[in-house]
Amino acid sequence: MKKLYYYLLPCLLFSNAVIAQNENNPGSNHGNKFEQLGTMLSTPNEYRSASGAPGPKYWQQKADYEITAKLDDDKQRLDGVETITYTNNSPDPLTYLWLQLDENEHKKDAENQKFDESKMQSKMSLRQLQGIMGHDLDLGNHIVSIKDVNGNALKYTINQTMMRVELPATLQPGQKFRFKVTWWYNISDRLTIGGRGGYEFFPEDGNYLYTMAQWYPRMAVYSDFQGWQNKQFTGRGEFALAFGDFKVNINVPADHVVGGTGQCSNYAQTLTTAQLKRWNEAQNATQPIEVVNLNEVKQLMKGHSTARKTWSFHAENVRDFAWVSSRRIVWDAMSTRVDGGKKVMAMSYYGPEAYGLYRRYSTKVVAHTLRSYSKTTFPYPYPVAISVEASNGMEYPMICFNYGRTEKDGTYSEATKNGMIGVIIHEVGHNFFPMIVNSDERQWTWMDEGLNTFCQYLAEQSWDPNYPSQRGPAYKIVDYMKLPKNELEPIMTNSENITRFGPNAYAKPATALNILRETVMGRELFDYAFKTYAHRWAFKHPTPADLFRTMEDASAVDLDWFWRGWFYGTDPVDISLDSVKYYRLNTKNPANEATFDRAQFDRNLDNISTKRNKAAGDKFTVEADTALQDFYSKWDRFAATPMTTQSYQAMYNALSPDEKKLYDTKNFFYELSLTNRGGCVSPLIIEWTYTDGSKETETISAYIWRHNEQKVTKVFAKTKEVRSIKLDPERETADIDESNNSWPREMAPTRFELFKQQTLPRGATSGANPMQQSRKTTP
Ligand SMILES: [Zn+2]
Repeated sequence: MKKLYYYLLPCLLFSNAVIAQNENNPGSNHGNKFEQLGTMLSTPNEYRSASGAPGPKYWQQKADYEITAKLDDDKQRLDGVETITYTNNSPDPLTYLWLQLDENEHKKDAENQKFDESKMQSKMSLRQLQGIMGHDLDLGNHIVSIKDVNGNALKYTINQTMMRVELPATLQPGQKFRFKVTWWYNISDRLTIGGRGGYEFFPEDGNYLYTMAQWYPRMAVYSDFQGWQNKQFTGRGEFALAFGDFKVNINVPADHVVGGTGQCSNYAQTLTTAQLKRWNEAQNATQPIEVVNLNEVKQLMKGHSTARKTWSFHAENVRDFAWVSSRRIVWDAMSTRVDGGKKVMAMSYYGPEAYGLYRRYSTKVVAHTLRSYSKTTFPYPYPVAISVEASNGMEYPMICFNYGRTEKDGTYSEATKNGMIGVIIHEVGHNFFPMIVNSDERQWTWMDEGLNTFCQYLAEQSWDPNYPSQRGPAYKIVDYMKLPKNELEPIMTNSENITRFGPNAYAKPATALNILRETVMGRELFDYAFKTYAHRWAFKHPTPADLFRTMEDASAVDLDWFWRGWFYGTDPVDISLDSVKYYRLNTKNPANEATFDRAQFDRNLDNISTKRNKAAGDKFTVEADTALQDFYSKWDRFAATPMTTQSYQAMYNALSPDEKKLYDTKNFFYELSLTNRGGCVSPLIIEWTYTDGSKETETISAYIWRHNEQKVTKVFAKTKEVRSIKLDPERETADIDESNNSWPREMAPTRFELFKQQTLPRGATSGANPMQQSRKTTP
């Protein structure tokens, strides 16, 4: 299949037939913004239903791990032996398995060390230069052996970050295969080499913080929608992982504290009596209790034990396992209850440099996140949730690494505090997407980052209504949507190919979901449908089509136009209110219409020449000679006469009751002409301000654009006279140009500052004065 695809590719690229197939109904005159996605989505089958739910024959593979790892704190090296039990639940016989060797991303000859563009700049950081020069370190996985349970060596081939293990016999559907991998690698310095796991060295006390992630050879995903996941790990596109059960023994220096995915079964052996007592107290605590406290950590930091301890963890139904180890971490814990009343231990691990922030906030933010996400999706199913301060932001099942350190004096800025709260919510939130709703991150960053950032926004806003959320509110995406088209990519772009990663894969999908919830579907329909998606795909592997289909299936809202505009397109929303025409009904009632008719008539008589003639004091003949005056000189052509009144009455009396009602109500008609300048179709939200000062807002569905995607005209009947009209008054549609949203046009209030033009000496290119500065620092 794959070969065929590559052979066909060159000719298909230039074939209109393929483009036509990808753009459903391209020949339509109205455009295709409202056409169904059709062939752009995968065909439903018995594994994935057209409703967006897993099909009757849905299957997924299972990978269970038993791992023993040994951390060498002197050499910064990790050794491991793991036994993997792989269960083939697919209908396909397998002759080989693929594993992921993610540490190979750091190898000096790795593809990803060379495939990025680079340019020399007048100012270069050490990190930038190191990126260009590369490193000469022994990094990457060393596979010592791969054997079956009988000790027979298995043949394997390493292709960069992937390893194919050949099976001694075909693994039939329903069968299990157990094998053992022995490996080691040198742990990299996370702050200079980069990456999601590694060590951080603290020169002031000579200790290390190890945050161990992607640390063991992991099974790749084999699925119904793409076979073996075959995209290499480059450091960018995250992970595709199978669910399984873990038993992990971690051997570390005896003075280290270890936290990890799952539950530890031997705290009695690893903690002191006092610490164990505090751990037991924490089981029912509603405030965080320091299991390992700051004083103990300060003592531990001074020593360097040569004794060893093993911490034993187990975790069920997780897609990965990560851990932290150091002698410089405080550990606090408290119990919390999520939707459904289930108890979860919320915990944090942090160094002294984060104590001033993490002690007060971290564990409580963990607990808040679990409660908020449990309400939005499903009750958090795992027994623990951990936040580790590691000066970054990275997520794993039940454990995540975040930032938030204080100044030496314990103070911190508001930005650090808010950033810390946001990152903890975000990374703990990843437990739901993608740790449980297990999408393929290597393919679709937005499926976990976008959905998670949306839920993060909800959690931030229920933490504090004044929390300055950076992503979620529609108006916050405007600057990104305003960029030139060639700088934008659709959300439906593979992770590796995205330019502007943050706005594309985090902010835009989060904003789109927020617009769906607040503006397009409404909270009730959206919340039910989003929850349905989360329930359907918890502990399974969803694809984008499963989300798109479920959101429609559970709400009866056709959203194909929305997915097209926001997820497959790059067009922004910019609706312009071009003109407003105002109509009143001519009742023909002389008593009511005389004033209006007279005003129109007089306006025509009162032209510029007449006005100037009068102003010049001209003598008019018909005024000077009164003999010229007759009936018509004084006649009011608009005054009601017995005859006109009678004829109006006759006409009125002949009307039906409904027609009479229409005549009697004062009606004003406003014809609005609008153009879709941005391209992305969007509902019309119209705020009417009446001459009596009252306001009314009404919403017209985006369907108004379905026959003409560029221009629409619509008439609105009002019983009060309108003073002004404003589109999208709450800035909820991400309209990129608000200056064309109002009638009459409003002047946008903008400020500028007046400053004195600085004149630089001839030849100077900057106002800075290094000579003066150097004098100031010289004693
Ligand atoms: Zn994230």
